[in-house]
Amino acid sequence: MPIPTCTVQAAPVASGIAVGRVMFLHGGVQPSKIISIAPGEVESELNRFHEALAETKKQLRELREKLRLKLQPNEAAIFDAHLMLVEDKTLTAEVERMISENLVNAESAVGQAMDKFADAFSAVDDVYFQERALDIRDVGGRITANLTSAEQLKMNYDEPRIVIASTLTPSETVGLNREKVLGFAVETGSATSHTAILARSLNLPAVVGLPRELLDNLTVADKLIVDGFSGKVIVNPDAGTEEAYRLKKREAEKIYDQLLGESELRPVTTDGFTVEIAANVEAHDNYAEIKQNGACGIGLFRTEFLFMDGSHLPDEDEQFEIYKKLMISAGNDTVTIRTLDIGGDKLNSGIIRSVEQNPFLGLRGIRLCLRERRDIFDTQLRALMRAGVYGNMQIMLPMISCMDEFFETKNIIAGLKSELAAKDVPFADNIPLGVMIETPAAAMIADKFAREADFFSIGTNDLIQYTIAADRTNERVAHLYRPGHPAVLRLIKYTVEEAVKQNIPVSVCGQTAEDLTMIPFLVGLGVNELSMSPGAMPLVKKLIRTLSMAECVELVSSAFECDNSVEVVEMSQKLIRKLVPELTMV
Ligand code: PEP
Ligand code: MG
Repeated sequence: MPIPTCTVQAAPVASGIAVGRVMFLHGGVQPSKIISIAPGEVESELNRFHEALAETKKQLRELREKLRLKLQPNEAAIFDAHLMLVEDKTLTAEVERMISENLVNAESAVGQAMDKFADAFSAVDDVYFQERALDIRDVGGRITANLTSAEQLKMNYDEPRIVIASTLTPSETVGLNREKVLGFAVETGSATSHTAILARSLNLPAVVGLPRELLDNLTVADKLIVDGFSGKVIVNPDAGTEEAYRLKKREAEKIYDQLLGESELRPVTTDGFTVEIAANVEAHDNYAEIKQNGACGIGLFRTEFLFMDGSHLPDEDEQFEIYKKLMISAGNDTVTIRTLDIGGDKLNSGIIRSVEQNPFLGLRGIRLCLRERRDIFDTQLRALMRAGVYGNMQIMLPMISCMDEFFETKNIIAGLKSELAAKDVPFADNIPLGVMIETPAAAMIADKFAREADFFSIGTNDLIQYTIAADRTNERVAHLYRPGHPAVLRLIKYTVEEAVKQNIPVSVCGQTAEDLTMIPFLVGLGVNELSMSPGAMPLVKKLIRTLSMAECVELVSSAFECDNSVEVVEMSQKLIRKLVPELTMV
């Protein structure tokens, strides 16, 4: 039964409007959560359960074979015990009963059935039974993981839907079938969480902060309007509201198409200052399409998304082919490739060796590459240098916090060059090496880095979170996470000044680069390039063509007089409304 019409306010993180029915990405839902289904859905849920069971059996057998030689017989027996549980008729019958009689979806049924059996076993005062309870939970988790794998989304529904989840990880997001997804409405996260970044690069409307209560009550029968401009989510809208939103969607698309038609115009302010517009890309994007949106090159290629598929890590040749293809398609345009930035909210258990309490402050990005995964780092650098022959490549390093990390990487690159030369493998010898300024430490020694690096790219997503000490993925501190915070502006100012002194270019590649209200400040501070999701380029270009450097510089000096970010943003909003009101509608 669809729930009654209601409207809730969430936070918009990717613009656009989506209208459609709900699809649960159950991986993001708490295990305790019960999702009801309609009687007509029983059969498909039973099928999903049986497919997940079959997949679980297959994985357990493969694991047993793979580990047979490495493990003691008693350790390998664990897999036999788990296999027996998966084949246990009492357990499977209980799950089937819950689906068909209690009308709950497969994940809820597995969770409840496994809890029931595991609780009964752990209540017995005997270590043997208590261990079996753990086995049951373990197997239950594995079946649920198989049920929830993003792959499942490919087969579940005929028509595209809006993905609903409590949390959505970046790897789940990359795994989604774009054809089947209209947008996202998620409980946790923020505009700069990598999930939101991916939503923007997929051009899908998204909101975060969906109330828990609503999430608990929605079913696949419910229809939503997700307004990625205002953050509103309308549940089961009446016909009039739906039509009004469809109209709004068409109008926004019309304005956007007009701006897209101007994408060849150069991003030059009215008084002749050029701010280049480059693209942020994640994985295998099509450069020809990006170019049509108005990019002069790629300002950030987040290569870690090539490594987010848990099942395999791309080897040197595979990476080489991907980079080479991109270089060739970009022709003479600059392609800035960032080395692996695994860690933080981008986790891959095949790469990271230990679970950390504070992954954003842990072995992330360059730290992981230098300390623990030199193997992966060297492989990537070799692939990059080989592909560098095919175009205009720059390499940049993420999460740099001290000079040593930069020098160590330079030495590694020099060593790899000698290896490649000794083997007569062609490689590019002079790829510019840049530093991402995304820790306050790096910003504060920008004078030193500017003497060593070939370019800077300011990663505001992280710079803001580390400066303000506000987790970029945590909606509970979203009110503090402000790009216009005077401390952030000061760090950007200092970074740009030091880059100018050493005559190296400075780009901004975080979300701030496409935040229209922040752009006048970045222009006024003298940033040379803004790198952003391709969808934002037509809007940003239009804004730059309307601004004058003189008024941006004035705005910057007024911003430094402000005590807080709200005043800063208001000044710029006023200016944008005056100059280009249509930009507030897309
Ligand atoms: C940033 O931190 O601003 C950035 C561009 O990198 P990422 O968002 O991938 O951390
Ligand atoms: Mg970053």
